[in-house]
Amino acid sequence: MTKPSHPTLQDILKVIKKPTNEGNALIEKAYAFALKAHEGQKRYSGEPYFSHVAHAALNLAKIQIDATTIAAGLLHDTIEDAEIPPKVIEKEFGKEVLYLVEGVTKLGKLKYRGVERHVESLRKFFVAVSNDARVLLIKLADRLHNIQTLEHVPEAKRKRIALETLEIHARLADRLGMAKWKSIFEEFAFPYAYPEQYEKVQSIIKTKRVADEKYAEKIHRSIQKELFINGIKSAHVDYRVKNSYSLWRKLARKDMDPEKVFDILAVRVIVDTVEECYRALGVIHQHWHPVPGRIKDYIAVPKPNGYRSLHTTIFRGDGGIIEIQIRTDEMHAEAQYGIAAHLAYKEGAGASSKLGGDIAWVKELVKWQKSVAKSEDFLEHLSMDFFKHRVFVFTPNGDVIDLPEDSSPIDFAYAIHSDIGNHLSGAKLNGKLISIDTKLKNGDIVEIVTKENSSPKRKWLDYAKTTLAKRHIKAYLELSNPIEQFAKKFFGKKR
Ligand code: MN
Repeated sequence: MTKPSHPTLQDILKVIKKPTNEGNALIEKAYAFALKAHEGQKRYSGEPYFSHVAHAALNLAKIQIDATTIAAGLLHDTIEDAEIPPKVIEKEFGKEVLYLVEGVTKLGKLKYRGVERHVESLRKFFVAVSNDARVLLIKLADRLHNIQTLEHVPEAKRKRIALETLEIHARLADRLGMAKWKSIFEEFAFPYAYPEQYEKVQSIIKTKRVADEKYAEKIHRSIQKELFINGIKSAHVDYRVKNSYSLWRKLARKDMDPEKVFDILAVRVIVDTVEECYRALGVIHQHWHPVPGRIKDYIAVPKPNGYRSLHTTIFRGDGGIIEIQIRTDEMHAEAQYGIAAHLAYKEGAGASSKLGGDIAWVKELVKWQKSVAKSEDFLEHLSMDFFKHRVFVFTPNGDVIDLPEDSSPIDFAYAIHSDIGNHLSGAKLNGKLISIDTKLKNGDIVEIVTKENSSPKRKWLDYAKTTLAKRHIKAYLELSNPIEQFAKKFFGKKR
């Protein structure tokens, strides 16, 4: 018998570390259902369509997510691409699976059009629409397979998908602390998104990396030996090479000078306990001289996205230096899989907050997560309801505009451009004319009708919700009113 070209049911089940009979039965049923639903459908590569959903499910199984999510991963394209009625999914698999599949289907309709100032909104929208971190994880698992098979997609689509992956999926994976997925997204998208830069970075690092790799091969064995001799017998030492996209981003910040980038290659030391992390650091510093100022304790002070490790850079003895990262198994799993590892470890101790970042919405996410992390059923509280006071509205081009709740087409128009606001004469919602005081809802597609001779009216101030719109309307009214102008001229701004 020949092995099928896609992951088998056994391939998926065997990576699950804590299987249950019930969970396995659900996955088995979903596997058979999806296999039949996608029968006869093919991917661009010529492979059976089912291989895509089986890979997506395997990606999910690898991060130790619950069986319901893996089943939904198998079924994620059945509504959109196999035309299975939602009712059937609900009847066969229940409300929760349907909820997840429909969430992923909704996310599939979003497209990145390369308008930089809307990208942040699009990322937020992804999170808001997901409404449940598991929907987001299925979407990322789906893209993870798609990006690895991008070579088969028609050329015209490739660049858009690659850019979208870098801007949306890789960044979200990063914010969720999923370094491994982020790195796969970047590695596969980079050559199609920025072919010239990709070639350039390949040639810059080629010689350096070969030399470094030879050294890493040698030193990682020496470190393993020293740790063993010094009683840290559980230590597992290997090394990793920085992916070329993140290397390119770093090079761009360092005048494209590879000599200024110290972590193209890093040695990793994985031990059992936190105590062993510090002991390993001591042993390494006794045998290799550390570079001053490059010892970082991210265990005592984790990075904003939750990353924990000890970092040091040592002199290799041949003029070069190399970075060493020391962490426990659990820290390693978290660094690789972030929120997912957190969900998998949730019954264990140390369910600390894993999400983080420097911008407001991620801070919200952290605050929200901290408040629920202690609760009994973490998954149950994953609905991201701090977004409920925002609405996400589309332009006809598919750009997302992020507005406060109860915003009107006036707010929408000014959020696009002040000229569009100042010449607004009407608005269309999903193609039909609507009144300009209509309260916009999540997912509305709004088109603003402008006329050269239209101008802001005083009553618009009652309909506008955003300060941006109100400020523009007031400024216009003041400028256009002769009495206001007169007063301004003679009495200044205050009168
Ligand atoms: Mn898919």
